[in-house]
Amino acid sequence: MNDYGLSIWGDNNFIIEQGKVCVNKKSKPAILDIVKEINSQGYRGPILLRFPHLIKKQIEQIYASFSKAKKEFGYKGNFNAVYPLKVNQYPGFVKNLVTLGKPYNYGLEAGSKAELLLAMAYNNENAPITVNGFKDKELINIGFIASEMGHNITLTIEGLNELEAIIATAKERFSPKPNIGLRIRLHSTGSGIWAKSGGIYSKFGLTSTELIEAINMLKKANLLECFSMIHFHIGSQITEIHPLKKALTEAGNIYAELRKMGAKNLKAINLGGGLAIEYSQFKQASSRNYTLNEYANDVVYLLKSIAEQKNEQEPDIFIESGRFISASHALLVAPVLELFSQDHTEEKLNLKEKNPQLITELYDLYNSIRPSNALEYLHDSIDHMESVLTLFDLGYVDLQDRSNAEVLVQLIGKKAVIMLGNKNSTSDLLKIQEEIKERYLVNFSLFQSLPDFWGLKQNFPIMPLDCLDIRPTLPACIWDITCDSDGEISYKDELNQLFLHDVDVEKDEYFLGFFLVGAYQEVLGMKHNLFTHPTEAIVEINETGFEIKNLLESQSILDIMEDMDYDIHEIQDTLNERLERSNLVNETQKKQILGEIYLFLNDNGYLKTIN
Ligand SMILES: *Cc1c(COP(=O)(O)O)cnc(C)c1O
Repeated sequence: MNDYGLSIWGDNNFIIEQGKVCVNKKSKPAILDIVKEINSQGYRGPILLRFPHLIKKQIEQIYASFSKAKKEFGYKGNFNAVYPLKVNQYPGFVKNLVTLGKPYNYGLEAGSKAELLLAMAYNNENAPITVNGFKDKELINIGFIASEMGHNITLTIEGLNELEAIIATAKERFSPKPNIGLRIRLHSTGSGIWAKSGGIYSKFGLTSTELIEAINMLKKANLLECFSMIHFHIGSQITEIHPLKKALTEAGNIYAELRKMGAKNLKAINLGGGLAIEYSQFKQASSRNYTLNEYANDVVYLLKSIAEQKNEQEPDIFIESGRFISASHALLVAPVLELFSQDHTEEKLNLKEKNPQLITELYDLYNSIRPSNALEYLHDSIDHMESVLTLFDLGYVDLQDRSNAEVLVQLIGKKAVIMLGNKNSTSDLLKIQEEIKERYLVNFSLFQSLPDFWGLKQNFPIMPLDCLDIRPTLPACIWDITCDSDGEISYKDELNQLFLHDVDVEKDEYFLGFFLVGAYQEVLGMKHNLFTHPTEAIVEINETGFEIKNLLESQSILDIMEDMDYDIHEIQDTLNERLERSNLVNETQKKQILGEIYLFLNDNGYLKTIN
């Protein structure tokens, strides 16, 4: 049975039971039941579900892997993790992460003034804060304030001018001072589509010449004792382990060299993020070639060897994993509104007494198609369709004939795909599947909810939430509700096709789940067509069922307009005046219309499922 690659990307977080996707935890509720519960409270449209137990799981896995590796190699340095806020700054995630990370002293990483102030407000007491990215004097000042407030903060310098600003600020501020980190520019680079952050030409980091200069500047300013960490980040979603090993070796040697130059408080190496997760639904397209355990072992082993070789103490290890920690916790559920060729049923055929030759032939093909001739008949029907369209343009067949041909070709396609099965497909069949794809209109915005698909063609696992005990027969293409033709998910790769079920959504609701959307997607999401962040809920699973917490409805249309800097009173007043001026309706009707406008403005803009 098709499990939509759940065994590849699912990490045992979900299971299929009685044809439904269920959360693999305690009472194992079906996701559909959670969604129905939320729907029953009046919330429609796409819903983002957050599962705190999956945040906890990722935190535990990271710590378990590194503890194990440290034990195995007898590593003496400490292990610390901080979460980079840029990956998901939504309170529904951050607050859970901070609470669940408390036993581990889990910290936060900030890349801007806003993120730093968030970190200062929410970080666990005494847990580390690291600050990366470009800084001005103000941001540096906020960093000093953080340390004066008692935060354990490290400001990582991206360039010498930032160091100058820190030295100047240190003279003006009080104590204690923040720790200083130096971001090193490695000659090693990462791999994969996000690999731009490493390498000699990367946007960030100090060259070896600059590092030496930085040490001299720190010495001169009497601040060398604040220098405690070197940092690198070779890019997100590192697909292969090899570049990381090269980067670690390089960083380990830089660490040892800088200590030999007198940086005695340099105690930590920060590996940045990049730990990948598996997004692929297809074995042949796997998105990483290593496991977390392998990653942890390599880090610990390499740093230990270098420390031994250079006779230096083993560095504390910091990681800034974002994607790995947050991706799996969120799942977008969106209802299918329509199947575009669903009305291509036999009842829609309206054959005439006397039909054009091509239509009669198509009808014969439809009636006599068998597994043995299915592929051939499918080819023929597509050729016939082309001919019918040409004849239509020339005026030889009418609109009814054309409609009959469309219905018949669709019906033949459906029969053929079922007869031929979706396994061991010939490339011919795959090509045809591409042509007869069913288009599923889904109540979500790709731009809002899966921006990395739009911008980078990053695939996310997609599957229906029920009917999983029935073979899906329709090669599918997903359309979102924006009126932008890029709002479409269609796997062009012939081997990796998405099949969905032939359902009648007028009778039965059919929901799709878009998984692993907890990293980057939410804040990168765009308000294209003014669709906004979907309704979200935090779901806790317990022994007997589940509990829905913090149900937060999608922004109302007025809120979105206000975000865009419209004067919402002006909008409301203008609408009222225009209605008032209209002489097409009477006073009672005006009252009703006014009420309706009020309701629409105060509701969210997603479509309400038709039934
Ligand atoms: C983006 C970023 C991260 C997070 O990377 P992931 O691949 O999401 O783990 C960590 N550190 C820095 C400096 C970053 O810019």
